[in-house]
Amino acid sequence: MNNSDCLFCKILAGEIPANRAFEDEFCIAFPDINPQAPTHFLIVPKEHIASQAKAMAEHEPLLGHLLAAAANLARAQKLDKGYRVVINTGDDGGQTVHHLHVHLLGGRAMKWPPG
Ligand code: 5GP
Ligand code: ZN
Repeated sequence: MNNSDCLFCKILAGEIPANRAFEDEFCIAFPDINPQAPTHFLIVPKEHIASQAKAMAEHEPLLGHLLAAAANLARAQKLDKGYRVVINTGDDGGQTVHHLHVHLLGGRAMKWPPG
């Protein structure tokens, strides 16, 4: 069930444009509008799940699929030196769009700890 007030549901519905780098039955990937690294994609499930904190046992295959999609996209983007995968969750996690998504960041050396 998708949510008409949700930005990523609008992108999924084609109501807001996004340059789809990848799409399959379960997810799409498109560049972040405000990139934090030379390569910055969002991998977004077609099902509206508000956050990682709302993921339940039934979502386990989907969560695995999103990570596998991130790995495939990283290979396609030739991020051979490495990359970072991030799921911001809730207020303390810095989540701003309340539809679960995976960030794929690469093309520069990342720092640790994250901000
Ligand atoms: P969060 O902060 O929730 O982890 O990530 C949301 C991400 O969505 C942010 O990195 C932000 O730049 C990105 N974003 C917000 N609005 C849009 C949009 O309309 N199009 C695209 N491509 N990315 C967006
Ligand atoms: Zn949504």
